[in-house]
Amino acid sequence: MEEAKSRKRKRSKHHSKSQSRPKKNKPLQSCDKSKPQNYAAQENAEHENPVLAAASSSSSASKRSKSASFLEKMRAKLSGGHFRMINEKLYTCTGEEAHNYFKEDPSLFDMYHAGYQEQMSHWPEQPINVIVNWLKGHSPALIVADFGCGDACLAKNVNNKVFSFDLVSNNPSVVACDMSNTPLGASSVDVAVFCLSLMGTNYPSYIQEAHRVLKPSGWLLIAEVKSRFDPNNGGADPKRFSKAISNLGFALTLKDCSNKMFILLYFQKKENQSSERKEIHWPELKPCLYKRR
Ligand code: SAH
Repeated sequence: MEEAKSRKRKRSKHHSKSQSRPKKNKPLQSCDKSKPQNYAAQENAEHENPVLAAASSSSSASKRSKSASFLEKMRAKLSGGHFRMINEKLYTCTGEEAHNYFKEDPSLFDMYHAGYQEQMSHWPEQPINVIVNWLKGHSPALIVADFGCGDACLAKNVNNKVFSFDLVSNNPSVVACDMSNTPLGASSVDVAVFCLSLMGTNYPSYIQEAHRVLKPSGWLLIAEVKSRFDPNNGGADPKRFSKAISNLGFALTLKDCSNKMFILLYFQKKENQSSERKEIHWPELKPCLYKRR
């Protein structure tokens, strides 16, 4: 996957960053404290001879720094493993299951987002910033619904009224819900955003919900990981995906494939919705699984 390759190239940079982070993982922290019992006595004895003390303190400092860096690596591996596990879960279950999963243990959501931020830090451009810029180029009076908002970066960066939804709310401005069923009224928003959030196996129900809450001519903006739309690699055919959304009652206005990591699709809800219900063939979207580093 392209995103995995890009991360690999920047691996050494990332590692030096993560080494300077504060220690968070409790079980490993307690391991860190497990010095030999006579450690203090040894240290005092060595310090009686200044030459020996200097040589040995630099060698023990180097040993300590090696063991600290080993622990940092282990910590990074563990949290990377947790992130990949939660990520895979979110891509292979329904939104309702994901909602219950996080309800049982909301700390998993923070773990997921720490890993997500880390992954995104290696992307040359953040899709959410492209959407922020798009909104800044339009009227601030447009009412926005951000489906799967994460840390509500969108709401924080625009002047529009933004309704932010995610499975867990760590912020009073975010409504915790499964986004296939939001508390918004029908035809109440001008823009519906899905930025890397079409994760659940029931993703069509999220787009149906966006269709319900959008006003006529309202915008549907979708940013998704490019590899999910690469038919040569098990991804969905982007034309089939756009066709399914069009059959729901949208018109594709713009398709932007210029970014290496993600595609952006801009749809508008048709003014006149056809009264006859078309049968919609939604392509399966493969999970975006991150490789172990
Ligand atoms: N849009 C944000 C976050 C992307 S991560 C950004 O671009 O920065 C994807 C987010 O979608 C996660 O926070 C995840 O919890 C959320 N999500 C996935 N399925 C969801 C669902 N069914 N209902 C609500 N949020 C969902």
